[in-house]
Amino acid sequence: MSIVSAQQLSKQYVSGDITIQAICEATFTIAPASFVAFVGPSGSGKSTLLNMIGCLDPPTSGKLEVVGKEVTNLSPSESAAFRGENIGFIFQDFNLIPILTVFENIEYPLIMVQNWPAAKRKQQVEKMLEAVGMQDQAGKYPSQISGGQKQRVAVARALVTNARLVLADEPTANLDRETANRIITLMKTMRDEFSTTFLFSTHDPKVMNNAEIIFTLEDGRLQEKNHNHGGGHA
Ligand code: ADP
Ligand code: MG
Repeated sequence: MSIVSAQQLSKQYVSGDITIQAICEATFTIAPASFVAFVGPSGSGKSTLLNMIGCLDPPTSGKLEVVGKEVTNLSPSESAAFRGENIGFIFQDFNLIPILTVFENIEYPLIMVQNWPAAKRKQQVEKMLEAVGMQDQAGKYPSQISGGQKQRVAVARALVTNARLVLADEPTANLDRETANRIITLMKTMRDEFSTTFLFSTHDPKVMNNAEIIFTLEDGRLQEKNHNHGGGHA
């Protein structure tokens, strides 16, 4: 049983006369509740790969299964429904909604994507606020909290729908090293608590040491590097 399984997964971008092989025949499987880093320099294909796994961008060829479903040929509306049910996203620039409070930002997917009743929503948002240590900041707006706190809110928002898989594209790129390590540690704690699979990308070799499984990317070619059981030393 795997939560992500890819066979000879490829993605090409064609612009004018130029074809870019962004991902070249990647084959890998990821077990549930894994804590995985995709590491490579800018332009190596990290976002392309995460976007395919997140059903934001279809593969050019190959086969991709996510949370037990073959997603290779989903239509845009099928992809959107599948994402809403199964996948949480954390972005490098946090993507919080500025006019909503911390509480409302975390609540948002429960209203917009999953249509939970109000009482159940409140209970779930409070559980997530506590899990990321932001219960005292619930009424603040994003402009009133730090970058590290914004990313905590983003982690809570990604998990609030009970997503089985969380994808984080360079979640620490806009954070200092110490805050970055704290966010990665928080994600790992959330994995332990909720058994959610976390896949994150980074170009920072120090951040990747916190992962248990590391894949490297170079010019669209994927390689499994090692198993870092017991975690790293950043
Ligand atoms: P990374 O996230 O590791 O920086 P990307 O996945 O964004 O790398 O990009 C991989 C390659 O694909 C790069 O050469 C990039 O220029 C190219 N690329 C990414 N997205 C597009 C696009 N929408 N159109 C054309 N080329 C793209
Ligand atoms: Mg990228």
